[in-house]
Amino acid sequence: MKTAEIKQRWLDYFEANGHAVVPSASVISSDPSILFNIAGMVQFIPYLTGREPAPFNRATSVQKCVRTGDIEEVGKTTRHGTFFQMNGNFSFGDYFKREAIRFAWGLLTNSVDDGGLGFDKNLLWATVHEDDIETIDLWLQETSIPRERIQPRDNEDNFWHTGQPGPGGYCSEIYFDRGPDYGIEGGPVADEDRYIEIWNLVFMEFELSEVRSKVDFDIAGDLPAKNIDTGMGLERVAFLLQGVENMYEIDEVFPVIEAASRLSGHRYGADHEADVQMRVVADHVRSSLIIIGDGVRPGNEGRGYILRRLLRRAVRAMRLLGVTSEVLPELLPVSMESMKLSYPELETDFDRISRIAYAEEKAFLRTLESGTQLFQNAAASLPESDKTISGDVAFALHDTHGFPIDLTLEMASEQGVHVDEEGFRALMSEQRTRAKADAKAKKGGGHADLSAYSALLEDGASEFVGYDRLEADSRVR
Ligand code: ATP
Ligand code: MG
Ligand code: MG
Ligand code: MG
Repeated sequence: MKTAEIKQRWLDYFEANGHAVVPSASVISSDPSILFNIAGMVQFIPYLTGREPAPFNRATSVQKCVRTGDIEEVGKTTRHGTFFQMNGNFSFGDYFKREAIRFAWGLLTNSVDDGGLGFDKNLLWATVHEDDIETIDLWLQETSIPRERIQPRDNEDNFWHTGQPGPGGYCSEIYFDRGPDYGIEGGPVADEDRYIEIWNLVFMEFELSEVRSKVDFDIAGDLPAKNIDTGMGLERVAFLLQGVENMYEIDEVFPVIEAASRLSGHRYGADHEADVQMRVVADHVRSSLIIIGDGVRPGNEGRGYILRRLLRRAVRAMRLLGVTSEVLPELLPVSMESMKLSYPELETDFDRISRIAYAEEKAFLRTLESGTQLFQNAAASLPESDKTISGDVAFALHDTHGFPIDLTLEMASEQGVHVDEEGFRALMSEQRTRAKADAKAKKGGGHADLSAYSALLEDGASEFVGYDRLEADSRVR
């Protein structure tokens, strides 16, 4: 089943069950305290918090999401993209836990002929919050899932709140068992690679009076109007239904892997490290396409900076695969072709989108050239007695000239000189500390309701600053 068809089945199913179909919001968040939409619920926050009356009591959407906090996982796990689509159904003071569970089970297990997704009932697992006994009963009443396949979890995994006094509630998540070839038995609590999380049901039912941390808070009582917020990963369901190994191999992503493989001469599936790089390329090219499509341009801060990093990382990954010529003119059109069924505007707007992406690649290639020159000069001026590029020089190459550390290391080893990596890392971590402090200082004016998401973003941002290091690490091995 094509990804676009799963998306349509989702919308049809919830529409038939009385939900207003709401188009995806832009990937750019309308809330100033987060850069990108990271979940389907973000555009509905005013209704979920009761700040504005909802124009419908039930809604459904397939939201374009960007989670830069997951960038480290991309290509290495089976299930994390920097861009992905979150299918959601929402109730604003209307139905609650029982119906949310009934809807989810129905869509997942109804036969394909019946408009469902046709998952094998015997391979689905659920988690519930350890204090949420009611939800265990509801699972047993509404579905055929046996008690042994319902696992309790604590606040860390199965409680949602915003990080501020206000709404909060238990979650119940649905997992699919890929079988013994993929890991150990024992359900999602034992192995999240074998048991793939596909759907999170959030039950907003409590008023929290105080929130000290993710896991430590006080529940003051029940909310006057209880809400449902759910999120299902479209790519995850697609990869499970398409019988492929991970989300990068689905119809909307895999053609870029094939193109990267053709360009680089690496056969996909032959070498783990090369496969990871090809998956990174396919993921980042797709996120960049969507992000530019929604109006972001590469730059040195905020969204533009994230976009720049994604594009450069894709180019770097191709370089690690041995391709030093321009790659985006080969890859971006392939990504657009794979995505246009769901997002026709990517095709009509492709001239503009591609011009921005290709110009950024050209600029990066120039950076690489001048960085190479600077490196050569630095290396040539080292004394015979100590052939070590200092941490300062490596940091300046990285920070001022945008020349990635892994390239510095690569060239150094080719020429038999050392790099003071420890010094470089110390300067990087100082910079990261400064960036974090800045982000904290800026955060004060943000949206209270979104602070959990800003925290997430902040994590994401700081990991992002560190990506060169992570890349270098995998390169050095
Ligand atoms: P995981 O534990 O696998 O990182 P999560 O618990 O962070 O997922 P939620 O915040 O519960 O994810 O988001 C709801 C759903 O969105 C998840 O159940 C999953 O199907 C999907 N999802 C979340 N993050 C990603 C991602 N980076 N790429 C693809 N799908 C995702
Ligand atoms: Mg996650
Ligand atoms: Mg999870
Ligand atoms: Mg989850």
